[in-house]
Amino acid sequence: MSSQLNYDVLVLNQNYEPLNICQARRAIILLFNGKAELVENGRGHISTTSTVIDLPSVIRLFYMVKKPIMRRKLTRREVFERDRYTCQYCGRQTRDLTLDHVMPRFKGGKHTWDNIVSACISCNHRKAARTPSEAGMKLHQIPAAPPLNPYHIFYHHLRSKQEWQKFIPASDKWLKGEFF
Ligand SMILES: [Zn+2]
Repeated sequence: MSSQLNYDVLVLNQNYEPLNICQARRAIILLFNGKAELVENGRGHISTTSTVIDLPSVIRLFYMVKKPIMRRKLTRREVFERDRYTCQYCGRQTRDLTLDHVMPRFKGGKHTWDNIVSACISCNHRKAARTPSEAGMKLHQIPAAPPLNPYHIFYHHLRSKQEWQKFIPASDKWLKGEFF
């Protein structure tokens, strides 16, 4: 039963705005304590000796929580998504990507959004520890921090959790790949 409670649950604010994601175990406690209501089940039930418990997929809090400011973490996946899984040197779309420091680190290049791009393995080999101009390579676009979208953290769940889609603004756009 405990592993059944390890999946992600969407938590809506009192006004139905997506707030965060928690583990099912925590969501069930919120339901039990009367802090939240079940909005979407999505996972069926589990029976204990005395009762049947809904396995929530979406819950809504009965009180308003001030939304934390979301910051984009600089991770491999975030960079690949910003670049739409496209090598920024040859333009090939692939899942076999590496992170490239445009200005190499040992030349003082920083590990920041505007100095990191996705590069396919062969472009990364070709460029090696050189700047694009030293390597005779051109960037497809100037890298920058991706725009902040407050619903960003929810998008990665949309394909596996269809019942979340109606609560997350612009999820149809995200699913169509219209923005990363
Ligand atoms: Zn490439």
